[in-house]
Amino acid sequence: MIEEKGILFILSGPSGVGKGTVRKELFDRKTDLKYSISMTTRDMRPGEQNGIDYFYKSNEEFESLIEQNKLLEYAKFVNNYYGTPREYVEQTLADGYDVFLEIEVQGALQVKENFPEGVFIFLFPPSLEELKNRIVNRGTESEELILNRLKEARKEIELMDAYDYVVVNDDVDNAVTKIQSIIQSEHCKRERI
Ligand code: 5GP
Repeated sequence: MIEEKGILFILSGPSGVGKGTVRKELFDRKTDLKYSISMTTRDMRPGEQNGIDYFYKSNEEFESLIEQNKLLEYAKFVNNYYGTPREYVEQTLADGYDVFLEIEVQGALQVKENFPEGVFIFLFPPSLEELKNRIVNRGTESEELILNRLKEARKEIELMDAYDYVVVNDDVDNAVTKIQSIIQSEHCKRERI
């Protein structure tokens, strides 16, 4: 069966949830996905390589990319710019490959505006799931406190409803297997003779 255009998958979620670790494990397994390497103005960390982990840019270079509309989305995160190169994503999808983005939530929202047909996966922190379970199961004396904490936590994840899938990152292997299943089912959904 022929699928003409690739599918855009977006993995996002709150900071510290383990997006990077999950993405790396996904690509360590056999995959036909193409990872879109982001641009950033943050300093290179030990062990990272330009053109593999990120394309490292100066502030001026990054702002010029914004002006030229060369980014599909971008966001400022902890005082640094991060952005997705538009041409790579559009060309790779047009060539028939699936493209995978691993980005923070503000950027994911921008992608949603331009690519509503993308598949949006929200990586959910297990600590919040635990919190939620405690509320659902009641029986604690500090229910009000838990509710307040959950409300606080929800500020960071309030955009979750815009996503197609939620994957709890209780275990990296499990989370990656679920993401692989999502990828497979999205292909089945689109297969036509
Ligand atoms: P780190 O500096 O730890 O590599 O990444 C910090 C955050 O930036 C992570 O949440 C990561 O998902 C996000 N990020 C990486 N690349 C991009 C991008 O191209 N666009 C956006 N919006 N966020 C990104």
